[in-house]
Amino acid sequence: MIYLDNAATTKPCDEVIKKANQMMCNTWANPSSLYSLGMYAEDEIELARERVSGVLGVNPKNVVFTSGGTESNNLAIHSAIKSTRHVGKKIIASAYEHSSVLEPLKELEKCGYEVVFLLPEKDGTISPDTLKNALTPDTALVCVMLTNNEVGGVNDIKTMVSLTKNVSPKAHFHCDCVAAFGKIKFSASALGVDTLSVSAHKIHALKGTGALYFKNNLKPLIVGGEQEKKLRGGTQNAVGIAAFGVACERLFKKNRAPEIKAHVLKWVESLDFVTLNADNDFPYITNVSVSKIKSETMLHFLESEGIFISSGSACSKGQKSHVLKSLGLPESQIDCAIRISIDDTTTENDIDALFNAIKRAHEKLIKR
Ligand code: PMP
Repeated sequence: MIYLDNAATTKPCDEVIKKANQMMCNTWANPSSLYSLGMYAEDEIELARERVSGVLGVNPKNVVFTSGGTESNNLAIHSAIKSTRHVGKKIIASAYEHSSVLEPLKELEKCGYEVVFLLPEKDGTISPDTLKNALTPDTALVCVMLTNNEVGGVNDIKTMVSLTKNVSPKAHFHCDCVAAFGKIKFSASALGVDTLSVSAHKIHALKGTGALYFKNNLKPLIVGGEQEKKLRGGTQNAVGIAAFGVACERLFKKNRAPEIKAHVLKWVESLDFVTLNADNDFPYITNVSVSKIKSETMLHFLESEGIFISSGSACSKGQKSHVLKSLGLPESQIDCAIRISIDDTTTENDIDALFNAIKRAHEKLIKR
C-alpha cells in the first residue's frame, strides 16, 4: 500500500499508539478527579500542553485543547466576534480557507457581517497587498491560513498581522495552521496572531484532538464544565491529548520532504498530460491535474493499484474544490485534480509508483 493522502490524515506513529494504550490501560481516570489516579491524567494533559506549546513557541497557559481543527477554528471565530463587537462588522478572509472557517463566516454574513474574500495568487498564496487593499478601520476579524491544505504555499502571516493592526488596531487575526503545523517551523508569538489552530491527526497522532493558541483570554464556545481553565467545557480527551504531546516530540527530526517534492516536480515536468495547479515549494502538498481523467476515475484507478490519494479536502466530500476555483483554474483542470500529500516516510519509489500508475491510467483510459 502506498499512502499519499497525509493532508487528509496521517497514520498514528508507534509512540502515539504506545502512549494511547498506556493512557487507556493505566491513566484512564477523569483528569478533574481529585484523587491521585485523576491527577496522573491531569499531569499527562499538562505535559502535553507544554509539548504542544513548545512547538508553537508560546506559553502553555495560552493553549487550550479542543476536539480538533474544526472546533479550534469555530472557537476562535466565535470568541473573536464577541470581543470585537465595538470594532465593526467587517470580516476579511482568504477565499480558500478550510470549510471550518468558511462556514462560520457564512453564518456571520447572515447575521449582518460583511465578509470580504481574498483571492489567492497563482502560487497558492495570498498577497499581503490584496489584504492591504481590503482593510478598513471597521475590520473586526481577519482569517488567513498559514498553508492551504489543498495546494500548499506559505502565507506571510507576520506582515499581514502588522498590516491589519496598522489599519484596525483592535481587529482579531486568526490563523488556521492545521496544514502547516509540524511541516514548517513557526512561532505563534513571532507571527503575532491573536489565535491559531492546530490538529493532532495531521501529525501522526489521533483524530478528535486539537488545540487553539490564544493571545488574550477567550470567550468559550462550549460551556457546562470548568475544564480547560473554563474555556472549553467537557471532560478532556486525555488519551488523545497525551498522544498529541508525544507526536509533537517527534517533529522535525527527519525531513526528506523537500527532496521528495523535487522528485514529484521532475515527474510533473516530464509528462505533458500532467499540469501543476499551484507552483510553490511547500514540500508536503502538490496539486496536479491529469488531462481528461476525472479525479474520481483516477482515484479509483490508483486505488486498484494500491495507491491511496485524494482530489482535495476530505471535509468537502464530492464537491468541486472551492480552493482550485479561487485560483481561477479552468473547470477542466479542477475536475481532473489530484492532491499528492506526503509525509516524512514517503520515498522516491512511492512517487515513481504513483506516476507510473498515472501513465498507465493515461494509456488505458485516454490513448486507446
Ligand atoms: N483546517 C485545515 C486546513 C484542515 O486541513 C483541516 C482538516 N481537514 C481542518 C482545519 C479540520 O481539522 P479536524 O479534522 O481536526 O477537525
